[in-house]
Amino acid sequence: MPSTTTPVAMSSLEPGPEPIEEEPYVLRRPGVAPVEDVDEDAPDEGVLTGATEVRHPHLHLHRGPENEIDLDRAAGAVADLLDALGVDRSADGLEETPARVAKALAEMLSPEPFNVTTFANEEGYDELVVARAIPFASLCEHHLLPFSGLAYVGYLPEERLVGLSKLARVVDHFSRRLQVQERLTAQVANYLQETLRPKGVGVVLEAEHLCMSLRGARSGGSRTVTSALKGLVRDDLRTRSEFLSLAGTRG
Ligand code: ZN
Repeated sequence: MPSTTTPVAMSSLEPGPEPIEEEPYVLRRPGVAPVEDVDEDAPDEGVLTGATEVRHPHLHLHRGPENEIDLDRAAGAVADLLDALGVDRSADGLEETPARVAKALAEMLSPEPFNVTTFANEEGYDELVVARAIPFASLCEHHLLPFSGLAYVGYLPEERLVGLSKLARVVDHFSRRLQVQERLTAQVANYLQETLRPKGVGVVLEAEHLCMSLRGARSGGSRTVTSALKGLVRDDLRTRSEFLSLAGTRG
């Protein structure tokens, strides 16, 4: 028998510590230490060693106490949802499901803070830099179902270079919130344009949406492609077609 009521923790209503304006958001979960990016100072592949580096401010979301994740409350809400859906929560294997769902969602909605370190383009590298086939996963804001696929992120350098692994971190960062694919694509492109001030930026995302493949039209296997092109990657025909062929999605 499903229990009729589930106690819901009220911790989110208690006054928390004073919010610190610039503190990176960290998932508050007992026993989990804040994530440190251990190789933060190491130049990544694709970056000239010995170049002057500039560290940009942490890339993170400003979360106030009012929208911190309350795992107990979320688990209670999942239990209510299961009850409303007529699921017998006393069945084998379901006992911990509300807590597990809450934790999984919290993880998918919690970007890890990290520094974006840029380096002077001392050699005057002026060809496209493209990170291909970066795996990513996000949550569709319309159905709370995942969409996942591959990202292709490139830029045409001006004065600054950035490590290739940081391009993947930027995609991951903006993926960890409720999203639509078009906005995620634009946010990655805008962030790189503002941080690097390159001659151009190109972002292509190719993803399968579970809300499309598992329900509604059940268009299993179909993939949605979105792109955001800026500067010379958008306006210069040669650069644009070079990026799009490097970002050539399969097929
Ligand atoms: Zn959806």
